[in-house]
Formats: sequence, structure tokens, C-alpha cells
Amino acid sequence: MKMKRAVCVCSGGIDSTVAATIAKQEYEIYLLHVNYGQKAWRRERDAVLKVSKFLGAKDVKFVSLSFLKELGSSALTDMAIEVPQRLDLLNDAASATTPTASKNATQIAKEETPPTWVPCRNLILLSLASAYAEVLRAHAIFTGFNAEEAASYPDNSEDFVERFNATLEFAVASFSKPPVVITPLVKLLKPQIVKLGMEVGAPLELTWSCYLGGERHCGVCESCVRRKNAFKAAGVEDPTDYER
Ligand SMILES: [Zn+2]
Repeated sequence: MKMKRAVCVCSGGIDSTVAATIAKQEYEIYLLHVNYGQKAWRRERDAVLKVSKFLGAKDVKFVSLSFLKELGSSALTDMAIEVPQRLDLLNDAASATTPTASKNATQIAKEETPPTWVPCRNLILLSLASAYAEVLRAHAIFTGFNAEEAASYPDNSEDFVERFNATLEFAVASFSKPPVVITPLVKLLKPQIVKLGMEVGAPLELTWSCYLGGERHCGVCESCVRRKNAFKAAGVEDPTDYER
């Protein structure tokens, strides 16, 4: 029997790599990486290529939407805005496991926008992944959305995915059954994702998390700090080479 297909939206980071590894258990996987003008896109692309080889993906597609950086406003894409150091988020193992994901999307929207927010990024990524899925007649789209990031970024939340899936029914041609966005990590925090990644054999050592595109992980940006916290709280040895 022909295996069902899934598009996996991959950033090269831990979350999307674990999600793709889970997808691989049931689907023929097609990885999609998008350059939305982020400073780290080359590093991310290299990581996605390695992960793709490791997982034996059927194909890997790199799409450039780098013009999105012209909109400015995000520290991830705008060279005029420095990526903030977030050592204040560095946890000891105990506090890192405290759930921080109880806020819903409405509550988040009322708070101040973090400098690392990329306007409508996940809406754009999922739209593109949906188009790719339609071309492939894929049944599913996997993402690494998770509860830890949903606490700061509403486009990682279950509410968002539910509404996106409802929209998708009207967004594809009538001849094809709409693909479904599947988020296996949506209730998990990063330490739980690292643990799950170890269980399913995800190649965490090949992943790239840093918002900067340097030679090594900077060790101080929000994404690096969350990565450090996750390995520490999971009790898993961190394979990452950090600058600091
Ligand atoms: Zn970093």
C-alpha cells in the first residue's frame, strides 16, 4: 500500500525535528524550510538538510520569502534591531519544568509584542505548507508548535491551529481532501520535547536553535536559553557548542 504523505515544516530546531521524527513513523515525509529573511537562515538550512538525510525524507524543499524582512519590526529579520540577550530566562532545573503555558491567545495579544515576534509568520508558513501539501496530495502537515512558545507567541497555540484547519477546508481545490495540520507537541514544554525526542530517536545533535547565524550557538538569545533550559531540565546531556 502506498504510504500517506506529510509535509513537515522545519526550522532546523529541536521542536520541528522531533515533530518530523514522529511524522516519519506513519508518513512519507517531505520537509519544508522557509527563509523569511531570518538572520539564522543559512544555519537553519544546513540543519534541515542534515535532519532530512538522517530521517530519510522523501524530499526537502527550501523556499525563499526573504523579502518579508523588508517589512522590518522583528529582531529576527531586521538588521537594525539587535536580538535581545535573555539570560534572565535561564532557569535552574526545577523551575524550568513549571508550566508557563496557561495563557490563551487573547490574553497574549493584549500584552506587549516581544521584539522576536515575526508578524504573522506561522500563518504564512502554514499557508505555504498547505499549498505544498495540496500539490503532493499530502494528508498532513506537521509542525513543532508547543505550549512553551504558545505562552509568548499566539501563532503556536491550539486555538490558532484549530482555526487554521477550519480555514483550510475552504483554501484547497474541491477535488482534494484538505490536509490537516498536526501538532504532536502542542501540549508540551521544551524539556518534555527533549525527552520525547530521545525516546523517538530524533537527531537533536543535528539541530540549530540560535536566532543569530553565527559559527556557534550564541548561548544568550531567547532560543539558546530555552534550549539550555530544556536539556538541563530533561536531564539530557546538551550536545550544543555554545559561544557563552
Ligand atoms: Zn542564540
